[in-house]
Amino acid sequence: KSQSKSKVPEEGILPEIIREDYRGSDKLLNKKAIISGGDSGIGQAVAVHFAREGADVAIIYKESDDDAEETKKLVEKEGKTCLLLKGDISKKDFQKECIQKIKKEWESLDILVNNAGIQFPKDDLESITDEQIYETFNTNIISMISFTRDCLELMKSGSRIICTTSVTAYRGSDHLIDYSSTKGAIATFIRSLATNIAEKNILVNGVAPGPIWTPLVKETFDDVSDFGKDNPMKRAGQPSEVAPAYVFLASKDSSFITGEIIHINGGDYVGG
Ligand code: NAD
Repeated sequence: KSQSKSKVPEEGILPEIIREDYRGSDKLLNKKAIISGGDSGIGQAVAVHFAREGADVAIIYKESDDDAEETKKLVEKEGKTCLLLKGDISKKDFQKECIQKIKKEWESLDILVNNAGIQFPKDDLESITDEQIYETFNTNIISMISFTRDCLELMKSGSRIICTTSVTAYRGSDHLIDYSSTKGAIATFIRSLATNIAEKNILVNGVAPGPIWTPLVKETFDDVSDFGKDNPMKRAGQPSEVAPAYVFLASKDSSFITGEIIHINGGDYVGG
């Protein structure tokens, strides 16, 4: 199964990275942020919003140099730096390389956004291979735990960790069984780590998007004509409608919030 990329999820619906009228107000002035999966979709939108709020970013990405260069250009347009860290986040050596690079360039880290994630095209349990299960778990959650652990040495009081989970963590997904299981694990990781390191004043929160127009969507679904139509707002969201929540969770405005997950899904009730 290929993980090939398409820039446009559906003809006529382009991912909107940032609203034209989004005015930054230095909420993240001079902060340093790592964003995994920052080359594309939600992560790209987070990188550009962070830059508009005054942060320098380092984006971790796996394949597309074009997407990464595009993000770098957008960040630099905001007058901020964008480091490119290319490799597979599920590989230990690459994780170490990223941390060394950040140490050398920045010495410390204020914000870690664990956002890289993969899903394979719709599947029934009978057709899921062991290889797929391991790849999905290694990329989405196992590497998130070990990378976060190793980044902690760079983080001090006031730093933030923000993880991308999904509405599927709560609702399940009849055809994304391994993927939704990793997202459930991420939601639990957020709550567990939050209390584990609360006394250090390092805050851990998450965002659980519903259907969002990104390149991942086209890779996963053969037919995207119904994408988002079954949620209360009868549409999918845009990366620009998700990224401001990451700004909030990275800024001083959320200084007494930890272990929380913000649901951005057009009103889909997920309990609680
Ligand atoms: P995307 O495919 O546009 O971006 C994800 C990026 O992650 C990729 O471009 C890739 O560079 C990076 N990545 C993937 N595997 C990697 C690896 N092993 N090493 C390094 N980088 C890797 O997808 P997106 O829709 O923006 O998704 C971002 C996050 O949001 C994911 O965790 C996804 O599960 C989650 N999410 C997306 C939706 C949605 O509808 N788009 C809904 C809920 C949750």
